[in-house]
Amino acid sequence: MVKITLSQAILISIWVCIFSFVCSVGSDVFDHAPQDLCEFCAISNRTSRTRLLYENETTNIIAFRSKDPDCKKHYLITPHLHIKNYFSPEATCDLIHELQRVCNEMLDEEGIKYKRRILFHIPPFYSVTHLHLHCMACTNDDESFLSSQYYINKFMDFASPDIEDKCPHTV
Ligand SMILES: [Zn+2]
Ligand SMILES: [Zn+2]
Repeated sequence: MVKITLSQAILISIWVCIFSFVCSVGSDVFDHAPQDLCEFCAISNRTSRTRLLYENETTNIIAFRSKDPDCKKHYLITPHLHIKNYFSPEATCDLIHELQRVCNEMLDEEGIKYKRRILFHIPPFYSVTHLHLHCMACTNDDESFLSSQYYINKFMDFASPDIEDKCPHTV
């Protein structure tokens, strides 16, 4: 019989954890498309069939439905400009606040009473390297899914507390 010491068992567990983590977020981490292949640029440039739910020609902000919704309502709100992520210098607080404002306006207009989750990704964990706000309204069922370990692993990249650090007094 092969004997495994406690330290070997711990080491194996750590590797299993690392492996499952990489599998769960790997596609997000490594999928950094160059700008000409960016799927959100394609949506913004109308070369994609995704229907826009919101469009403002002054602020150049658009919104559309998430193709992989995690809540009853799950919109993505993004600037036309290909800004890499939340920490890019082009992601000004004015822009961050405007993205949040559009999200709340859309949910307000629909009279949505569910719990709102308004979140950015923390680099390097993101699905698309084009700044976008996840604008979600979640039912109680959604909430139990969101508190599951699966979801926490999948979305440990979300950055809601850091919004306050970068841009205080956000909505
Ligand atoms: Zn882009
Ligand atoms: Zn995302």
